[in-house]
Amino acid sequence: MKEIKSFFKLTLNFLFPPLCPGCEVYLGIKADPARLCPDCAAGLAAVAREHLFRETGRAGLEVLYSLGPYGTEPLTRLIHKIKYEQKDWIVDALIPALRDFLAKARLQDAVDAVVPVPLHPRRLRSRGFNQAELIGRAVGEILGKPVYGDVLKRLKSTRPQMSLAQSQRRKENVKGAFGPAGRTLNPDQRVLLVDDVATTGATLQECGRVLGGMGVKKIIGFALAA
Ligand SMILES: [Zn+2]
Repeated sequence: MKEIKSFFKLTLNFLFPPLCPGCEVYLGIKADPARLCPDCAAGLAAVAREHLFRETGRAGLEVLYSLGPYGTEPLTRLIHKIKYEQKDWIVDALIPALRDFLAKARLQDAVDAVVPVPLHPRRLRSRGFNQAELIGRAVGEILGKPVYGDVLKRLKSTRPQMSLAQSQRRKENVKGAFGPAGRTLNPDQRVLLVDDVATTGATLQECGRVLGGMGVKKIIGFALAA
């Protein structure tokens, strides 16, 4: 059985050569898919180490954690491939970096539940998945915390934040865009709010405002890039 499995893997890898999703380098005939080459993995880990957290200094979120600044590679390329090339499996390639980062940030003892930023149903249909929810599920599994996709919902289909230049316009774009989706949280539950990108933090802050209105007292933000 083991021989058959490895034969299948070799055949698949021959037909679809496994390439690093970060830099397209060939990973070798025996490589597992959904993993980064050693260079990309090291690059990501180095950025994550230096970028452990930054304070938002704004109402709603206590701290905003991220793996690295938006614009650094291979992080940004990986996020783009997940979002715009519909390669949801790349989230799995980020798990080693996520695990390492979440342990260093000591988030396991700091939060009780993970809440991903919701997508509008229309965008969810066209993309096929909510990348924030996939990242949230990976984070929840690493931390051993429940992931609730039914706490928040998106009420308005907003323009992509990346298409708006100024932070003021981004804030206005997401104002009133989110509301409660049905599940209520215990006010003592500390929430980790998860998104893929948070450059101005306006989306996370708006979600944090809604959670605050629902009685949640402690909200920490996490995005892959910020
Ligand atoms: Zn690579």
